[in-house]
Amino acid sequence: MRAMVMRAPRGRVEVEERPRPTPVEGQLLLRVRACAVCRTDLHILDGDLTEPALPLVLGHEIVGEVVEVGANARGWEVGTRVGVPWLGWTCGECDPCGRGDENLCDTARFTGYQLDGGFAEFTVADARYCFALPPELGDIEAAPLLCAGLIGYRALRMAGDAPRVGLYGFGAAAHILTQIARAEDRRVFAFTRAGDQDRQHFARELGAEWAGDSDSDPPVPLDAALIFAPVGDLVPRALQHVRKGGVVICAGIHMSDIPTFPYELLWGERSVRSVANLTRRDAVEFLAVAARTRLRIHTTSYPLERANDALADLRAGRIRGAAVLVSGTPTEPFEPGAFPRSGRAP
Ligand SMILES: [Zn+2]
Ligand SMILES: [Zn+2]
Repeated sequence: MRAMVMRAPRGRVEVEERPRPTPVEGQLLLRVRACAVCRTDLHILDGDLTEPALPLVLGHEIVGEVVEVGANARGWEVGTRVGVPWLGWTCGECDPCGRGDENLCDTARFTGYQLDGGFAEFTVADARYCFALPPELGDIEAAPLLCAGLIGYRALRMAGDAPRVGLYGFGAAAHILTQIARAEDRRVFAFTRAGDQDRQHFARELGAEWAGDSDSDPPVPLDAALIFAPVGDLVPRALQHVRKGGVVICAGIHMSDIPTFPYELLWGERSVRSVANLTRRDAVEFLAVAARTRLRIHTTSYPLERANDALADLRAGRIRGAAVLVSGTPTEPFEPGAFPRSGRAP
């Protein structure tokens, strides 16, 4: 099979012919149909995340079809379409696992980081961390749900019932979250890189009532600020935007250092917290929400071999919504035409 492989933290992947992996006990062998590209992939490629299992097949937003069921992978059948997220394995025995905080497992392994992921024609995945996908979404549309959507959803849940939500960094996650927040009758305020009119327009199109530069002030105080951009400078800025008792949630796996700031910004029972990974419960809950919310997932799709182009376009901020790698012929949405596909890379 073909795979796009990271050999060293040099910012790109290389095409490689590899034997098809064999599922061991508890695993499924999947034919990958689509795999979205995440900012975390750039952080891994750039060496910001320092423990990749090299050589590594990246990709942790996988949509695949079960082609073989390993021993004791109960409940799965050949032909089923499943999604595989970032959290790929947990021990089930450590303190966090015992508390039900499997997202914080001390020895967790992550898809496309410590476990080979979906930038390949086939992959294996722990059956416990595979999820049936709603038929309402085609393969390409479903892929970004597995990280951008899912971890974004966990961040939104941490905001409680906050009616006024700020989203900082308007990439794949924010474009999904805006739609979910609107469906829950929340007001959305979108912050982008200074002067990114196109992205601000995109945010308003999706339901944000205000969109502006990240150094500008929202028209009203926010109840919660969700930061998706990996920029520590945004933390004190977001604290200035939230009301007393409001929360700033850092939703990315990597962020540049947070600058020092006056205690006054935190005063008034404001809080800053992070979101780490996901739980299986998040996945089941979120996929049900995604199925009943008529999400319009914007994607730019690339053939698998063009993974480096997708990564470069993501890095340069040229992607509206999510970049998705496609191998073979992906299935269309259940209702053809209901979810306009945004386009293929030129
Ligand atoms: Zn991700
Ligand atoms: Zn554990």
